[in-house]
Amino acid sequence: MNYKTRMRRGRRTDALRLLARGVTLTTDDLILPLFAVEGARKTESIDAMPGVFRMSADRLAEKCETLKCPGVMLFGVPPADTKDSTGSYALREDGVVPEAVRAIKKSRPDLAVITDLCLCGYTAHGHCGVLAESGEVDNDATIDLLGKSALVHAAAGADMVAPSAMMDHQVEAVRAALDGGGFSRIGIMSYAAKFASAFYGPFRDVADSSPEFGSRAGYQLPPENREEAVRDALLDEAEGADWLMVKPSLPYLDVLSELTAQTRLPVAAYQVSGEYSMIKSAAENGQIDETDAFFETLTAMKRAGAAAMITYWAEEAAEVLSRL
Ligand SMILES: [Zn+2]
Repeated sequence: MNYKTRMRRGRRTDALRLLARGVTLTTDDLILPLFAVEGARKTESIDAMPGVFRMSADRLAEKCETLKCPGVMLFGVPPADTKDSTGSYALREDGVVPEAVRAIKKSRPDLAVITDLCLCGYTAHGHCGVLAESGEVDNDATIDLLGKSALVHAAAGADMVAPSAMMDHQVEAVRAALDGGGFSRIGIMSYAAKFASAFYGPFRDVADSSPEFGSRAGYQLPPENREEAVRDALLDEAEGADWLMVKPSLPYLDVLSELTAQTRLPVAAYQVSGEYSMIKSAAENGQIDETDAFFETLTAMKRAGAAAMITYWAEEAAEVLSRL
């Protein structure tokens, strides 16, 4: 026996393993999604997502005061009785998102505040845009409204807006609206590769945003097609996106890896509600270790090329990482 190569030599001790380590997670990799509701002193728990809450602007600002990661992604959960066919609430300057942006920026001006930009949380039918007579989502009417909503977020102080409706040319329309409104400094994080996924289930409970009829397969990406996903994402780069995103994360690491090889833009990975709740449930049942499981999944996303991870576990991860 004379084996020259022995991989275990490099794994013998902690120090040797650390020296050869590939990616290392840091607090700077993390973005925390937050849900904004109307009112004051409100913190509502969510059955489908233990540890995640819907909060009024004042409570969100308090939470952000001690947050140890550099970014948050804001979702609006408007009162149910404000929903209509065009999602008009999304254009209100006193809506839940602009109010939350202002409150958070007041308590943490240094925090990167990114706002989700879509209509599904605001429309009565729950689709991501306005409907044409055919019953399909009207692409060009929708991107016009997304541009207007982006202006409201930017005026409130958002650093980046994140169009998530998967409409064609939404990045171009939002860029034009922001530039036309004097917000050329405000960036766009595009939900560039957003798949029609089963893993969004818990989120739709949180945001009350399930489509009343049909599905989102007419605009979100088919899980079977990597080429289409990468092509769609690269179009967003050409339209002026500053960041791209792959969503969900773990089932689509191949897409993340391929996309980061094809673009020089930073790419975010979104660990979605179903991915989060699966780990939480398994941990609560004593089947896996919560911290180890989240760290392994987040590390996998970074290894696959993610510049940042959007995760409901960002606060806990940042706490642990800041103590290391
Ligand atoms: Zn949507």
